[in-house]
Amino acid sequence: MRVVALAGGVGGAKLAHGLQAEAGADLTVIVNTGDDLERHGLLVCPDHDTVMYTLAGIANREWGWGIAGETWNAAEQLAVYGEDSWFRLGDRDLAAHIVRTDRLRRGERLTAVCRHLQRSLGVAAAILPMADEPVRTRVRADDGWLEFQDYFVRRHQEPTVHEIRFDGMESASITPEARDALAGADAIVICPSNPLVSIGPILAVPGMQAAIARARARGARVVGVSPIIGGHALKGPADRMLVSMGHESSALGVARLYAGLVDALVIDAVDAALAPAIAALGMSAPVTETIMTDDESRRRLAAETLAVAAR
Ligand code: GDP
Ligand code: CA
Repeated sequence: MRVVALAGGVGGAKLAHGLQAEAGADLTVIVNTGDDLERHGLLVCPDHDTVMYTLAGIANREWGWGIAGETWNAAEQLAVYGEDSWFRLGDRDLAAHIVRTDRLRRGERLTAVCRHLQRSLGVAAAILPMADEPVRTRVRADDGWLEFQDYFVRRHQEPTVHEIRFDGMESASITPEARDALAGADAIVICPSNPLVSIGPILAVPGMQAAIARARARGARVVGVSPIIGGHALKGPADRMLVSMGHESSALGVARLYAGLVDALVIDAVDAALAPAIAALGMSAPVTETIMTDDESRRRLAAETLAVAAR
């Protein structure tokens, strides 16, 4: 079964890891690049790198991002030189940003650079940036527009988000690799990632929704997994952001956002009572345990999600 998954960072990476255990090299993950940023002159792609380190089996399990056993010597020395230290890069992690930036400067596409990093780490799946062109998510808080990582890391997701925009999106387009993967997909999985700032940017890439629609028209199923469980995000600001953006913080709220796009939304057992309302939106709402705590629960949820797509 050829599988394409859409993913952000920490939540997306966990299900992607389970999907890789099921599908191996037949998995393609299309990742959000709206969170990307420049640090110390280097391009950092947080969601891509979270998925890459997770699929490579070297992620820090406790944080969900970064590399296990990371050290911080470069970050400490950068602080000595007066560099901002609110977004710290670990020593090993830094190597990826150096290689990425160097190769981009030599004219390689972001997709090619990322594929090189993944192959070097022995990742079985393909992880594709949603676009090669830079797209930058910005959020409007009470005191104006913030760069995404300024909001997310520096201000600890505390500001209330009133508006979201994706700068550069009009000049971006779906990559040939993402188009080909969707053209060959038997199943498309929308991972349990933030619908507004992780999945939202991917779906906004010109050509992406049309490619998904073509896949559906030839019979591929699209299945989402709700990142909202019992009305709350497990981690991060998705629940508060849904509410401040005028949506409902619930699996039903997620279903409304994905109505018309997905054939099914997998929801958690605690949300079983929402299934009829979700079904009324024109999708099935299979119920299972959706909290991924270890490799086994990642793989089980991935297998169940693929089984829904095969139905
Ligand atoms: P980020 O880019 O690192 O913020 O991560 P994502 O956007 O990919 O994922 C954030 C979402 O993942 C949050 O809304 C969490 O509720 C959700 N999430 C994290 N772990 C799990 C899990 O084990 N199961 C489910 N269903 N959702 C999860
Ligand atoms: Ca992210």
